[in-house]
Amino acid sequence: VSFGYRDVDASEKAGMVRGVFSNVASSYDLMNDAMSGGAHRLWKDQFVRRVKPQPGEAILDMAGGTGDIAFRMHARGANVTVSDINPEMLAVGMERAQKKGLTGLAWSEQNAEALTFADRSFDAYTIAFGIRNVTHIQQALEEAHRVLKFGGRFFCLEFSATLWPGFSDIYDAYSHKVVPKLGKLLAKDEDSYRYLIESIRRFPDMPKFEGMIRKAGFVSTKVEPILGGLVAIHSGWKA
Ligand code: SAM
Repeated sequence: VSFGYRDVDASEKAGMVRGVFSNVASSYDLMNDAMSGGAHRLWKDQFVRRVKPQPGEAILDMAGGTGDIAFRMHARGANVTVSDINPEMLAVGMERAQKKGLTGLAWSEQNAEALTFADRSFDAYTIAFGIRNVTHIQQALEEAHRVLKFGGRFFCLEFSATLWPGFSDIYDAYSHKVVPKLGKLLAKDEDSYRYLIESIRRFPDMPKFEGMIRKAGFVSTKVEPILGGLVAIHSGWKA
């Protein structure tokens, strides 16, 4: 299937995203390092420093995939539930946890748009490089708000658009020319990586996304751009 540059409607998107992550699950971690030159590790470290997980806190890592964010929060003593819509991504995550000798993480297949958790279940909700893959983003944000306790915090790490002149041209050229080739070479899957880049381009810009977080009910929202906004950490509180 080629879904490179054409528009996809909502009903198609969910199935397509499922296919993409099933295809890339086994090569996902390698590709992240290859595409970002290892930088994604630093962004994730910074993200978790902002979340400040506390020992014993209940944290939901949504779209947790192969566990990168969850493992970091678990290391700080939080009780982490890793949730993802894709069982293949979760399976890679569970295998990684086992290899690292990590115990005590909970794994749960969930759609971010319709969580099965009760209201006010978590102290914090994290979602890293996940929300742009969700079909109905506003609905996912509302669900995040619902499952958080009062005083709970929302944190999102996502690609955005860099406001640094020049850098954005380089990034555009890199992402459209180099990333699909890397995908072909390392993951044997050019189309999936084309989708990933396209989904970044279509994602709402920082002010617009912050507005959506507020609309879901969060207060004291904040945006921290990294590399001029190439990546951004969004946060908010449930009052
Ligand atoms: N958080 C991990 C990380 O930072 O490495 C994984 C990010 S990966 C780019 C995006 C993940 O979002 C995939 O594992 C995918 O299955 C998941 N995903 C996509 N749509 C979803 C949805 N509606 N609900 C939950 N997870 C979803």
